[in-house]
Amino acid sequence: KFGHIKLAPDDAILQTAIAFRNDSHTDKVNLGVGAYRTDEGKPLLFRAVKEAEKQILADPATNKEYLGIDGHLKFNKLAQELLLGESSSAVLEKRVASVQTISGTGSLRIGAEFLSMFFNPSCVLISRPTWGNHITIFERARIPVKYYPYWNPKTKGVDIEGMINALNDAPEKSIVLLHACAHNPTGVDPTPDQWERIADVMARKDLLPYFDSAYQGFATGSIERDAFAIRMFISRGFQCVISQSFAKNMGLYGERIGALHIVCRTSEIADKVLSQLKIVIRPMYSNPPMHGALIAAKVLEDPALKNIWLSELEQVSQRIIQMRRVLLEELVRIETPGDWTHITSQIGMFSFTGLSPAQCENMIKKWHCYMLTNGRISMAGINSRNYQHVARAIKDSLQI
Ligand code: PMP
Repeated sequence: KFGHIKLAPDDAILQTAIAFRNDSHTDKVNLGVGAYRTDEGKPLLFRAVKEAEKQILADPATNKEYLGIDGHLKFNKLAQELLLGESSSAVLEKRVASVQTISGTGSLRIGAEFLSMFFNPSCVLISRPTWGNHITIFERARIPVKYYPYWNPKTKGVDIEGMINALNDAPEKSIVLLHACAHNPTGVDPTPDQWERIADVMARKDLLPYFDSAYQGFATGSIERDAFAIRMFISRGFQCVISQSFAKNMGLYGERIGALHIVCRTSEIADKVLSQLKIVIRPMYSNPPMHGALIAAKVLEDPALKNIWLSELEQVSQRIIQMRRVLLEELVRIETPGDWTHITSQIGMFSFTGLSPAQCENMIKKWHCYMLTNGRISMAGINSRNYQHVARAIKDSLQI
């Protein structure tokens, strides 16, 4: 019955993780990792998360009943406020339909399915390059995928003219997928002025913004600054879809906690949208898991825990920024050819080095620096013990 099935290729990102694990070299470096690491190279359990978990387990009212189809309602509200701001007109006017989802990926999949069923999109425009899963998620929801240019290899910045032109040429009823902050894989975001230009053309063409917010607070350390683009679009009157993940900013990767928010014109429309989102979710997994929602809600609800979390988030983003600085200084010190200032101007977890696939192979094979062959390195994998090794590896690979 199943003999005809061909072996599927491994996921490139997961394959990098396996190759790293199997390498016994003492100087190996994991630059493929999509999760935060401490300066000791260890995963981080946030103190606020640990404390919230302790309180949840000690509470006699805690049980393991099913949540509703749309998840933990208090979590949904708190997640909405974190993203949009408590004084957001959309929040105050109750015109945001929110559901708890299985982290950011689950949110994108539900959002794409909902749009496929109810928006009749002509296509979704996705940045080139992007996080690989974006493409498959929208294809699986039967939405044709097109691309807008994003990365300018010459300037190692946003190809803003190329992007604006592509949005100008977008067919009617296009969805435009935008990374809310800390673009993956390039680490390059539009400036506030460039965001305004993007909003201008999208308003004129009546395109639907779909924000993927996987790194709020993780990019700059500020919840507000990292939500700038989303809040600006909403204040300009856009209706939009937002996928939110708590994997990175609370370190809740494996708890799979996120949310999907659909900002509508009126609260009546939001109620109807919410009712249909539940119909999309019910036959997929019935209702979401509880533990991550309880943790995130507790951290966001309790002012003391929230403060601890925010200061931890600040430290995490600062370590990444510090590693960018240290790596750049070392590249300059050892006289690496070329301009490497993009290492510090890029933000968030990743840096797009500009290394060619052959140069990346050299990084991996000769230097045991595991990374994606598109040139993406995770800054979380760099620490005070390995940055010199990484800099030497980059300099050597440039000769390929
Ligand atoms: N969007 C982007 C841009 C990401 O980088 C990620 C995580 N790598 C996600 C969404 C989803 O992550 P998760 O499902 O773990 O929340």
